[in-house]
Amino acid sequence: MSNHTLRVDWPNCKAHGLCAEILPEIVSLDQWGYPIVMGVVTSDVLTMARSAVKACPTLALRLTKAPPRHGRIKNRAGWLTDFLHHFGMSRP
Ligand code: SF4
Repeated sequence: MSNHTLRVDWPNCKAHGLCAEILPEIVSLDQWGYPIVMGVVTSDVLTMARSAVKACPTLALRLTKAPPRHGRIKNRAGWLTDFLHHFGMSRP
């Protein structure tokens, strides 16, 4: 599974609808023609998501790497462990 998300820069989006034509698997349009991104970019649509980003005439689409869902919690736990270790303590 890809860990990318498709983001829309709303002030720059001019509702051309091209992204929904290229990537109908995860992009649909609302009644005004603005994109609605549904779900995450899976590896099977990653290439088409990149094409949609390149094709957007106003550069309003961006493909970003999503952080792992539990990565932040693990990092915090790791930080706490390091902090306690620094002062000679351990986690209960
Ligand atoms: S192609 Fe770009 S400008 Fe057009 S609807 Fe999609 S994000 Fe908006």
